[in-house]
Amino acid sequence: MNRKARVEELRRMLNEQGLDGILITQPQNSLYLSGFGPSVQPDEIEGALFITEDDSILMTDFRYLEQAEREAPAFRLFKVERADEGMVKALPGLLEGVGAKRVGFEAEHLTFARYQKWASALEGSEWVPTSGLVEEIRAIKDQDEIEAIRKAVALADETYAYLREYIRPGLTEREVAWEAEVYMRQGGAEKIAFDLIIAGGPNGALPHATTTERALREGEPVVIDIGARVESYHSDLTRTLYLGEPDARFQEVYALVRRAQESALEGIRGGMKGKEADGLARQVIEEAGYGEDFGHGLGHGVGLAVHEKPRATKRSEEELQPGMTLTVEPGIYITGWGGVRIEDMVVIREEGVEVLSRASKEPTLLSPGIL
Ligand code: ZN
Ligand code: ZN
Repeated sequence: MNRKARVEELRRMLNEQGLDGILITQPQNSLYLSGFGPSVQPDEIEGALFITEDDSILMTDFRYLEQAEREAPAFRLFKVERADEGMVKALPGLLEGVGAKRVGFEAEHLTFARYQKWASALEGSEWVPTSGLVEEIRAIKDQDEIEAIRKAVALADETYAYLREYIRPGLTEREVAWEAEVYMRQGGAEKIAFDLIIAGGPNGALPHATTTERALREGEPVVIDIGARVESYHSDLTRTLYLGEPDARFQEVYALVRRAQESALEGIRGGMKGKEADGLARQVIEEAGYGEDFGHGLGHGVGLAVHEKPRATKRSEEELQPGMTLTVEPGIYITGWGGVRIEDMVVIREEGVEVLSRASKEPTLLSPGIL
């Protein structure tokens, strides 16, 4: 879907909800609809879109005007004094000008403080919370988006291959994470997709471990969760390595997670619910008696955000539709010992999934530093 079609789809949704217009403040949604991606400052709004039945307006201030003009040619630029404050001042006139009375805002993004400010400035209009409208359109990727995602995935794969050569006992988690970050940036990443996770031994038992100064040791698992951002799109890849000759426990747990992942990769189809996909992997782990140790969902969509629709969790009723991306990432976490997680990115197709990730799943690492 090109940008124009995305805006048309949003208009169809506005119509359905009886809205005269919508204010888009979430930066990734703004980027998706207009091409204008203001820098993401969580506590500041640097530009906003206002979309009605037959108008597409981009509000921003002098700092971004030139960028906005270049990036969002299909939008009518509306210069405000200073984004945020200036928008509050400009909005009443703007709404009156286009005759919008019932106006939607993005409830998941607009803070309560900002809502109060804006709502009081717009007393004459009805201010309606909306949830996940643009996110729903974003969930299904077009060809260009998939191509950007492929590049981000390939870079994560390459970085992982490099880490397999680099990693050895004695290096701290932070040293390995930094090496991965540098490799990605030199390989063309705009950014890393999230704080990279290198979790050795017991630290791997925390699904969202942060990296620490702990040095990796021989004879323990290491969870490596990395991702890059390329052309605004992300990748998300996890592999688990064992430094040295794997012991029986690691072999058992690793083989189980691998089987659970295979079951999901082979079984997921377009039209399935998120919870059904999750169940394909969960069942394998539960039957082996490790159900309690798989504490998170199977996966999530990845695109302009690292975590986006759809969700494949125990209870997710969301339908997995062709063209959506999904991570398939079962894991087992054992306090005091460590964790095993294997995560691939896929695209949902009618008859199955297309696996994008290609990084090696061979867990044993006998690098020179170990032998
Ligand atoms: Zn991940
Ligand atoms: Zn993930």
